[in-house]
Amino acid sequence: MDKGLVIKNTGSWYVVKTDDGRTVECKIKGNFRLKEIRSTNPIAVGDRVSISVNAEGTAFITSIEDRKNYIIRRASNLSKQSHIIAANLDQCMLVVTINYPETSTIFIDRFLATAEAYRIPVCLVFNKVDLYTEDESRYLDGLINLYTHLGYACYKVSALNNTGIDAVKAALAGKVTLFSGNSGVGKSTLINAILPEQQLKTGEISAAHNKGTHTTTFSEMYPVDKEGYLIDTPGIKGFGTFDMDEEEVGHYFREIFEFSANCKYNNCTHRHEPGCAVREAVEKHYISESRYASYLNMLEDKEEGKYRAPY
Ligand code: GDP
Ligand code: ZN
Repeated sequence: MDKGLVIKNTGSWYVVKTDDGRTVECKIKGNFRLKEIRSTNPIAVGDRVSISVNAEGTAFITSIEDRKNYIIRRASNLSKQSHIIAANLDQCMLVVTINYPETSTIFIDRFLATAEAYRIPVCLVFNKVDLYTEDESRYLDGLINLYTHLGYACYKVSALNNTGIDAVKAALAGKVTLFSGNSGVGKSTLINAILPEQQLKTGEISAAHNKGTHTTTFSEMYPVDKEGYLIDTPGIKGFGTFDMDEEEVGHYFREIFEFSANCKYNNCTHRHEPGCAVREAVEKHYISESRYASYLNMLEDKEEGKYRAPY
């Protein structure tokens, strides 16, 4: 019996790095099921597991250690089945481009709010700074100012030109970090800049993954400095939405949560209630309009959810 870390999930088999440094390809036993969630994959990268080898020499994962956390995606809107993207994360790095392609602030803020709900810290990596005009650079600096003030570490990089990469590497050292971001923002290029020996294929592989059925099944973690790991999940942009109640959404926008302490009503949704301290803060520009718009956008989902047929 060996213990180790799941470092790769292909959808049909796993690679486990044992504590004594070997890499073993493993299957899971057919009857292996996680009790707490209905998932299409009971094991994910980042899981600590025990493995054993049978008489034919095939290695099996036989048990899984308790997780510190894990993030899931609903397999589809109509299914209650979930897919575990990764387990035991220390942080997420969201790769963002303000143009080529544009990452909307709604996407950024939804990601941040969901990560807050999971209690997983996020840092933001703004890529492709080599491409931006003066106006775009000014807009970018405004965003960095906003998110830095909210307590999110921000990095400006050009993965293509290798600028700003050392600071990103320093932030990865000793931690397990999930990489996320819309396709085309340069995740693969950035990972290649961080780990020159890996050389993932850029561009075309993302496109292939987006089409295929393997979109949510393949993931891999790569070692970085000081026993840290970087997790790449090609084809997965974010981690879907966390199931939260309407009143809860505001808890996951740090500044909205802070101001909401002074709202007249306890269960204020900060839309049209009288005496809402959040709306007042937006009017006075203490809370950014883009953040408030993202908040309202997340609430809209909740409203739609109410009228969706139960399944
Ligand atoms: P992914 O879908 O997030 O993995 O994105 P890729 O790494 O495949 O990159 C998408 C495209 O953006 C490729 O053509 C890259 O060469 C390009 N790209 C990535 N990073 C940069 C950058 O910093 N500057 C510029 N100009 N292009 C970049
Ligand atoms: Zn309010």
